[in-house]
Amino acid sequence: MTLSHSRVNRYDFCPRSYRYYYIDGWRPKTKKPALLFGDAVDQALQAFFRAGEDPASAFEGVWEKLKDSPVAWGKRNTWEGFLEIGKRLLERFLAEEASRFSEVAPENVQRRLTADLEGLTVIGYPDLYCKVDGLLTLVDFKTAASPYDTEEVALNEQLTAYWWLLSASGLPVERVAFCVLLKLKEPKIGWHFSTRSEGEVAEYLEKLRIVAADVERGRFPRKSASCGFMGGCDFKPLCLGNEEKIQMTLCLPKEISEEEIVI
Ligand code: SF4
Repeated sequence: MTLSHSRVNRYDFCPRSYRYYYIDGWRPKTKKPALLFGDAVDQALQAFFRAGEDPASAFEGVWEKLKDSPVAWGKRNTWEGFLEIGKRLLERFLAEEASRFSEVAPENVQRRLTADLEGLTVIGYPDLYCKVDGLLTLVDFKTAASPYDTEEVALNEQLTAYWWLLSASGLPVERVAFCVLLKLKEPKIGWHFSTRSEGEVAEYLEKLRIVAADVERGRFPRKSASCGFMGGCDFKPLCLGNEEKIQMTLCLPKEISEEEIVI
C-alpha cells in the first residue's frame, strides 16, 4: 500500500471523502480558481529552477492555456485578475528572493522521495531541495490570500513528512520551509523556516500506520464537521444522495493519471 501526505490529509479531513476520491475516483467537474492558480505558480517556479526560464513569462504561458478550462470563475476571481497577480508575484519573487537559492540541481525540483515503513510505501514530491541562505533546506511553495500562522507551520505534517522522507532517503537537511506567495493587492512573499524533532517524526509515523490500517480495513466513516469547510465539501451530493446534483457537479473520469492515483 502507498500513502502520501495528500492522502493522509484527505483521510484526516474526512474518511468518506478519501473513499470517494481515491477509491471510487470521483472528481469535481469544475476546478477551483485558487487551486488552479497555485498549480500554475508551481509550474512557473519549476520552469525557473529547472531551466532558468523567466517565472512570470512561464506563468503567463501556463495561465493562457487555462482560459477556456472548466473553472468556476467568479466576479472577484477572474482569469484576468489572477493573471495580473501571478505575474506581479513572480516578478517580485525573481527580484527579491531568487538570489537566496543556491546549489539548485534540476533533479531536486519536485524530486520523487519514497521510503518504506514496515511494508507501507510512503511517497512525496517536495517542491525544492537546495540551499537557502547557505543552509540545506527543503522548500515547499504555497500561494495564499492571507499570511500563514507561525504556530501552524511548526505543527504542519506535510513538512514533517518531507523531513522524514529526506532523512530516510539518506539526504541531509538542516531545515524545512514554506515560501508563501501572498495574493494581496500589493503582492508579498513570506518565509517560515522550521525543523522537526525525533518525537514529532515518531508521532507522524504512528499516524501513518493508523491511517494505513483504517484504509486497509475499509473504515471510511463520515466526518460531518468537515462538510462546510472552505465553502463546502465537493462530495456533499454523494453523501446526500442527490442524483441531479451528482450529475451536474461530479464525474468519474475514465482515466485517472497514475500520479493522481498515487498522490
Ligand atoms: S459531505 Fe461531509 S461527510 Fe460527506 S464526504 Fe464531504 S465532508 Fe465527508
